[in-house]
Amino acid sequence: MTDPDDLPERKMRFLFHLRSRGVTDPRVLAAMERIDRGVFVRGHFEDRAYEDTPLPIPCGQTISQPSVVGLMTQALEVGDRDKVLEVGTGSGYQAAILALLCRRVYTVDRHRRLVVEAEEIFRQLDLSNITTRVADGSYGLPEQAPFDRIIVTAAAEDPPGPLLAQLKIGGIMVVPVGQSDAVQTLIRVRRTETGFDYDELRQVRFVPLVEGLGQT
Ligand code: SAH
Repeated sequence: MTDPDDLPERKMRFLFHLRSRGVTDPRVLAAMERIDRGVFVRGHFEDRAYEDTPLPIPCGQTISQPSVVGLMTQALEVGDRDKVLEVGTGSGYQAAILALLCRRVYTVDRHRRLVVEAEEIFRQLDLSNITTRVADGSYGLPEQAPFDRIIVTAAAEDPPGPLLAQLKIGGIMVVPVGQSDAVQTLIRVRRTETGFDYDELRQVRFVPLVEGLGQT
C-alpha cells in the first residue's frame, strides 16, 4: 500500500487533479511538477499545500488555488523568449512557475514583507531570472516596458490603463476583473495592431488590487 502522506504520491494526485480541472499544457504541468507549492505555504497550512484551495499568507493575502494558477499560466501562452510582468507577487508561487517558462519575470507587490520572503525562496530554488519590486503594480513597470505577457493576480475593476499601454503588440494579458468582494471574471486581453481583443475565461475570486504601498 502507498502511504497517503508520501510526497511523490501526493504530487501525482496533485498533477492528476490539475489535469482534471483543465490544465493540460505539458509545459505548464511540468513547471508545476517542479515547483513545490509546499515551499511557498508556510506555518499552519503547509500540510494543505497540495489541496486545490487558496491558502492564507502574511499581510492578509492569499496564495492562489493551484488549478487557477495553472489555468492562468496556460491562458498566458508564455514562450521561452518572453519578458513577463506579474502584478501581485504574494507568496512567489506563480512567479516561480513563470520563471521556468520564460526568459525573465518581473514581479511586483505593494507589501515589502511579501517581496522579501519571496526573494529568499527564489534564491533557495536558484531561480535567477526573477526581478522583484516593491511598488503599486497598477502602474506597471514603465522602465521595463513593453512586456510580451502581463499577469495580474489581484482583481481590478477594469484592466488598468497603464498595464494595457505596457503590453507589446501581439502580447497577452490575463487579469481578473470585477468588484473586489464579489465573484470576478478572468479575462484575456490580446493587443492587436489596432486595439485590444478581450475574451472571458471563467469566474474566479481574487483579493482586490489596492492602490498605493502596503504598511508592511
Ligand atoms: N500571485 C500570488 C498570489 C497573489 S495574492 C501567489 O502566487 O502567491 C494578490 C497579491 O497582490 C497580494 O500579495 C497583494 O499584496 C498584491 N497587490 C494588491 N494590489 C496591488 C498593487 N496595486 N500592486 C502590487 N501588488 C498588489
